[in-house]
Amino acid sequence: MSSDEVLVACADAALTFGRGPQAVVAVHGTDLEIRAGDRLAVIGPSGSGKSSLLHLIAGLEQPTSGTVTRASSLGRYRLGLVFQGDSLIPALDVAENTALPLVLADHPEAEARQRALAALALVDVGDLADRLPEEISGGQAQRVAVARVLAQAPRLILADEPTGRLDHATGARVLDSLLTAADHSGAALVVTTHDPAVATRLTVRRTMRNGRLLAPEEES
Ligand code: ADP
Ligand code: MG
Repeated sequence: MSSDEVLVACADAALTFGRGPQAVVAVHGTDLEIRAGDRLAVIGPSGSGKSSLLHLIAGLEQPTSGTVTRASSLGRYRLGLVFQGDSLIPALDVAENTALPLVLADHPEAEARQRALAALALVDVGDLADRLPEEISGGQAQRVAVARVLAQAPRLILADEPTGRLDHATGARVLDSLLTAADHSGAALVVTTHDPAVATRLTVRRTMRNGRLLAPEEES
């Protein structure tokens, strides 16, 4: 498989919420290709359309106009999402949370657990496997969320402000986890953030402002 395979292509893809005078254009017509191996930061202030763009890429929202095309190699389970905070199920321990998507995808439980434990170890939270979410910190929970994606052998990891509620040092460790997960699985990685320090950790940075993804030469 070529390393520059296009995983997701947005062609003039736009997303509008509501109709008529109440309509909000969250994303104006956007062209964007995400290729295997990409490390892309989408940086912009709150309300600039970062989450909306990520939802279009993920297929959580359908474009109001234009198209978003995903490679068939992404399949149903090889696109991993990491959101800002609170994504673990309180009644399940860390290993069970991490294995859950695999169990739901009909992998044998023993195999799912083994993959979960390996993913947790890879992002340095293997010692938390038996804890409940309430027994770990917010930064640790985010790394568990990254491990949960990693265990699914993702080809594309989308992280929406994964460090949004964390201090800089903790956020940096979550970024380490995301980069480790992407490198280990050979996945492309897209991270939205309003924090320039986070964005500098990615190879390519694109600015979003008022629903527009600025061209690289417009970056300031
Ligand atoms: P960001 O993630 O950069 O903070 P969002 O993508 O969440 O930006 O929001 C972009 C714009 O779309 C904002 O004006 C927001 O109020 C609006 N918006 C987002 N989601 C919805 C929704 N479900 N319904 C209506 N408006 C929305
Ligand atoms: Mg957002």
